[in-house]
Amino acid sequence: MKALIKDGSEVRLREVDPPLLQHPGSLRIRVAAAGLCRTDLYVAEGLLASAGRLVLGHEFAGTVAELGCQVSGLALHQRVAVFPWLGCGQCRWCQAGHTTACPQRRMLGVHLDGAFAEEIVVPAELVYALPDSTSFRAAAYAEPVAASLAILRAGLDPQSRGLVYGRNRIAELTYRLMRLHGFSRVELLQAQKEESSFDYVVETVTQPEDVARMLRLLRPGGTLVVKSRHPRPLQLDLQQLVPKEIRLAAVNYGDFQTSLDLLRNPNFRYEDLLGEGHPLEDWRLLFEEARRDESTKSFFRLSDVWDS
Ligand SMILES: [Zn+2]
Ligand SMILES: [Zn+2]
Repeated sequence: MKALIKDGSEVRLREVDPPLLQHPGSLRIRVAAAGLCRTDLYVAEGLLASAGRLVLGHEFAGTVAELGCQVSGLALHQRVAVFPWLGCGQCRWCQAGHTTACPQRRMLGVHLDGAFAEEIVVPAELVYALPDSTSFRAAAYAEPVAASLAILRAGLDPQSRGLVYGRNRIAELTYRLMRLHGFSRVELLQAQKEESSFDYVVETVTQPEDVARMLRLLRPGGTLVVKSRHPRPLQLDLQQLVPKEIRLAAVNYGDFQTSLDLLRNPNFRYEDLLGEGHPLEDWRLLFEEARRDESTKSFFRLSDVWDS
């Protein structure tokens, strides 16, 4: 099969053997659609520590091609979406169902083989059944929706005044999800804003100068919500942070099933945030486009039915 592989410092489209089911609790999935994310670019560029050689990609949906004998509740040819984080299953965070906080968590496309390939093998616990009304392309978008939904875990008061900082599809998505969940006084960064005027600021993109600006925009006692996965350490000026008694809230993921349900909610508009689908062969072009323009999500289409 074709697979987009990062090998050391190189990324290449290669012809490789399809992955084998080695565990009875795993499934082999035929990938239909896969989204390209900042995280994939960071891994490709070596900015995020990853496995030495692996298939990239972690946002995807497809159909079940083979089931291990211990897998129940899923069937051959079933349409599925996959949550890309795997916990150790043993620690207290995993036991509480909070696998993304597991100290030994691993991510598809970063630590384990990912989905920029015709097929992938994953443990059944990561697999979610997909209704016919959700396209593979939309389902491949469930992971970014789950990441944005983490905002609901930041302990913010929906009545307070807030700002989503950033000009990109993630800021737009977070803003729309907040409006949908009753945050009626949230704004999207569009123009110059008054200093010390917001109860909370949600970070979605971070360059060093943005941190200082976000802290200036917060009122004393306000909350800075940290959401992006910037690959480098950032400087935080404590002279700015401490006198204003700013609270920091870092949030990671919301619930994946809730995200899948939201994709079918007619009040949630997101189609305009989804871009075109490209074959794996166009990966260089797609990577360049994604670096240049963050207004829509780019996709790989790995099947003719990728958008149905
Ligand atoms: Zn992602
Ligand atoms: Zn664990």
